[in-house]
Amino acid sequence: MGSLTAPLETLTPTSPFGLRISPLSGSAGEFHWGQDFAAPCGTRVYAADAGVVRAVGWHPWGGGNRVEVDHENGLITTYNHLQAIAVKKGESVEVGEVIAKVGTTGSSTGCHLHFETIRNGAHTNPLQWTLQPIKQRDELGNIEMISYVPGTNAPKGAPTWAIPVRQDNSHAVTGGNAEKVVPPPPEPPVTEPPRKAPPPPVVEPPVVPQPPPVVVEPPPPPVVEPPVTSPPPPVVEPPPPPVVEPPVTSPPPPVVEPPPPPVVEPPVISPPPVVPQPPPVVVVPPPPPVQQPPVVPPPPPVVPQPPAEQPQNFAPTRAPEPAP
Ligand SMILES: [Zn+2]
Repeated sequence: MGSLTAPLETLTPTSPFGLRISPLSGSAGEFHWGQDFAAPCGTRVYAADAGVVRAVGWHPWGGGNRVEVDHENGLITTYNHLQAIAVKKGESVEVGEVIAKVGTTGSSTGCHLHFETIRNGAHTNPLQWTLQPIKQRDELGNIEMISYVPGTNAPKGAPTWAIPVRQDNSHAVTGGNAEKVVPPPPEPPVTEPPRKAPPPPVVEPPVVPQPPPVVVEPPPPPVVEPPVTSPPPPVVEPPPPPVVEPPVTSPPPPVVEPPPPPVVEPPVISPPPVVPQPPPVVVVPPPPPVQQPPVVPPPPPVVPQPPAEQPQNFAPTRAPEPAP
């Protein structure tokens, strides 16, 4: 660890640093965060090294009158149960300078010095340091000292100690044979706002024993059946392609029929002017026209002719046919 100057002219170690073993039961008790040295009350206490007083006052967690010196190299030394203190906060001290007197304030049952070495925020065993014997250099005079015991005319104020003491007093200045086991929790010196009542404990429902988890088999994969009832989708037939009729390139050529040959009508032999004929007589059929000689003029009508010409009708015009 290093070398320091002994805080007392005569070192009489009593309770060591660490867990305190009960002499009766042998069980571990409180943790002792320092080294105790027996000394009569009023014995001069020296600074173990040069430094700055970082805190002085009443240590409500068992230390009583307490001094903390910061050596500005990561080490803080503390002096506890003091009868009175000769230095003030922020004061520079030299190594071997008288800073207090031995006492039995705080959680103490007898005059002794509780000495701590806090390195980089952690307590160390003070006996791991080499404690050089103090060499008194100053001429001791009447050194004014102050006690910070509550209820006296001690200066007000709550020092900020190097290591806060937790509610379980884990860092309290206790654990030595000459120290009370549990210091009474002191009242805070400053008025703090009233603490709110802690919230009611959360009453959790009792844990109901759960049945063993049922092994749930994974469901079979769903059988994807093809839909049966659904009608087939309407067959959307594509519209028939439009009948692309070949374009009529050109209208068929008009059938140019050759003009019918002119009907060469035989020259009509103009019949003689038809003489208006009398209504046919039923009795007498008209003779077939074929038998009429073309040249022969039509027979005279049967219409009774005027009597003048009647003898002509009866006149035979044809020769009598020969007998077969
Ligand atoms: Zn102690």
